[in-house]
Amino acid sequence: MYADVLIEYSAKAIDQTFTYIVPDSLKSDIKVGMKVLVPFGNKIINGFVTNLKNTTDSKYELKEIKDIIDKYFCLNKELMELGKYLQEKTLCTKISAYQTMLPSSLKVKEQKSNYSKYLVYIELNKDIDEIDEFINNNKRSKKQIEILNILKEGKVLKSSIESASSIKSLLDKELIKETKEQIYRLNNHKVIETNIEFSDDQQNALDTIDLNSENTYLLHGITGSGKTEVYLELIKRVVKMGKKAILLVPEISLTAQIVNKFYDRFGDDVAIFHSGLSSGEKYDEYLKILREEVHIVIGTRSAIFTPMTNLGIIIIDEEHSDTYKQDTTPRYHAADMADFRKKYNHIPLVLGSATPSLETMARALKGVYTYIPMNHRIGSSTLPTIDIVDMTKELKKRNMIFSEKLKNKIQDRILKKEQVILLLNRRGYSTVISCKSCGFTYKCPHCDITLTYHKTTNKLQCHYCGYTVFKSDTCPKCKEKAISTYGLGTEQVESFIKTQFPSARVVRMDIDTTSRKGSTDSIIKGIENHDYDIIIGTQMISKGLDFPNVILVGVINADESLNIPDFRSGETTFSLISQVSGRAGRGVSHGSVILQTYNPDCETLAFVKNNDYIGNFNNEMKIRKILKYPPYYFITSVKVKSKNYDLFKTEVNKIATFIRNNIEDTSICLGPTTCPVFKINNVYRFQIIIKYKKDKLLEDTLRRLDEEYALNKDISLEIDVDPIRI
Ligand code: ADP
Ligand code: ZN
Repeated sequence: MYADVLIEYSAKAIDQTFTYIVPDSLKSDIKVGMKVLVPFGNKIINGFVTNLKNTTDSKYELKEIKDIIDKYFCLNKELMELGKYLQEKTLCTKISAYQTMLPSSLKVKEQKSNYSKYLVYIELNKDIDEIDEFINNNKRSKKQIEILNILKEGKVLKSSIESASSIKSLLDKELIKETKEQIYRLNNHKVIETNIEFSDDQQNALDTIDLNSENTYLLHGITGSGKTEVYLELIKRVVKMGKKAILLVPEISLTAQIVNKFYDRFGDDVAIFHSGLSSGEKYDEYLKILREEVHIVIGTRSAIFTPMTNLGIIIIDEEHSDTYKQDTTPRYHAADMADFRKKYNHIPLVLGSATPSLETMARALKGVYTYIPMNHRIGSSTLPTIDIVDMTKELKKRNMIFSEKLKNKIQDRILKKEQVILLLNRRGYSTVISCKSCGFTYKCPHCDITLTYHKTTNKLQCHYCGYTVFKSDTCPKCKEKAISTYGLGTEQVESFIKTQFPSARVVRMDIDTTSRKGSTDSIIKGIENHDYDIIIGTQMISKGLDFPNVILVGVINADESLNIPDFRSGETTFSLISQVSGRAGRGVSHGSVILQTYNPDCETLAFVKNNDYIGNFNNEMKIRKILKYPPYYFITSVKVKSKNYDLFKTEVNKIATFIRNNIEDTSICLGPTTCPVFKINNVYRFQIIIKYKKDKLLEDTLRRLDEEYALNKDISLEIDVDPIRI
């Protein structure tokens, strides 16, 4: 028997299979889709079996496969097919497609025995007569006799008995034995009985979604309309049919609340998948799925690759979220992968959002997706009232961070013992640090970007490469004591709040406060328990979270993200601000939202204020049509990166010319232009954009380019089909 094996070695350069002999010892276990260890050159490396065969026409002397890495972990037929689709869709290599689909916790270099977690029991190892004989003859071994008497009733947890030495001597005498039982780390969830009466919107959604169909549905429900309850019920019905479900959520900060709702409804019938799990937890959750012990998987982007068999539905919550697109190779979008699995399994796909992406909405309006609106909040709750505050006027009153109105409202809410969310989409203390005397500005030495001051660590930090340096009060250039800071970050808002409202309990939620394992969960629990009055955060706090006691939402710099030079900035700003506004007034009290801006006439904010999704949609679509952007045109971006600027300048033009000469006449190739951040981590970056409706030549052209530069040490290419931003 022979196996074709892809090699995990310098993925871009050697993306081909090699034939190996399958030794007799592995014949019964080996399968297509497994990871194996193979000799390659003078090393032993990971490989991936793509084919098994009985003959070979290879002219080389073949080597044997050394071992199977883990016989549990194997891509099934569906996932092997999905891997092919992933390669076609993203133009990635075969090996990186398959590497992406098997969880990262399966690294050979780690000790596998550490993965499984066991409970150790002790129990009797001899029949009762022998035990009694020992007891009668050893009256002085009181502790040992005590243990034996306990074990006569049945096995017990070894850790429940204190005397380790007595256990040891009983084990040595073989009177007792140890047994192990594998346990899962994340288990023991109790089902809580609930009795829900669906709202009309929810009932309509449930009536419309046909679980025996292969349709894609857009569940366009305003914030607080009860989309999660629709997901729960759909999945309940799917499980009743004996089938399984995948629910994708945008990020870990969100999973806590949703996952708990699912545990409450389905107990241990749920496996979860996200980057916040330890590798042991990941391993356990993966095993539950492989052993077909769970019907439901909830996870972030990569959970779309879980080997769930017999799928009955896939649901993508907050489908507009950019976290569904992976920003490293392979640059896939989870919705595309979900679409493949939908067709493969002939099952429905449900996309849920309060602010669907333009592409999705356009498809729904065309009838490609079935459109299901949910326009009412649950119960008597209504959407919050939104006010726009002109900060140019406030500046004249010397209100730099908070307008009069926002300040008063915060005061009011605290007195009423309600909660407040404040959004500022920039972390750190201040974003520009410069010298008042000579104008010097701190920049990252490796990136084309200013450093951000973090007061907690008293360091200046680059948010692109992580470079840090201690802040000093004297200017490194003119040596004057004139360094000052500008530009607001979340840390500064936090410290300002603390001086303004000294009695308020404040928590900050951004990458800096949530990077430790478990910290997000504990902040969310704290908010739920009303341990905090004011929550300050970046976009992390905008999505999905459901806190009935939050009445006021303040957006400190509402127009900031509009200035980002990207064709999606109008869409993403509308979505971000609508989403964060949607956190207000989800309980009985009516919510209110204050949007502070230096651009009070901004169209996008006016649409947010009027809850006018369609207005914003039409407005953005008009612009996209004129500028030939998605959904009217497809785009692919090619980033060309190099540390060697001189060599690179001519090369980048050659690449653009090559693309221009090898695409269809109807396609448009723009650039090369410098990327918005020209240098990151000492690497210079140019960008070429290709816009097209249909281009039969493009894929081949890009693959050829990619191959040509695969081994180039100076220049690397990054091809992104359907980029989320450019
Ligand atoms: P969305 O995801 O659409 O923003 P959620 O699913 O979080 O909204 O629902 C908002 C709130 O309403 C949640 O607290 C949820 O438990 C509650 N809820 C949802 N459906 C119902 C219902 N039919 N009856 C009572 N409460 C509901
Ligand atoms: Zn940097």
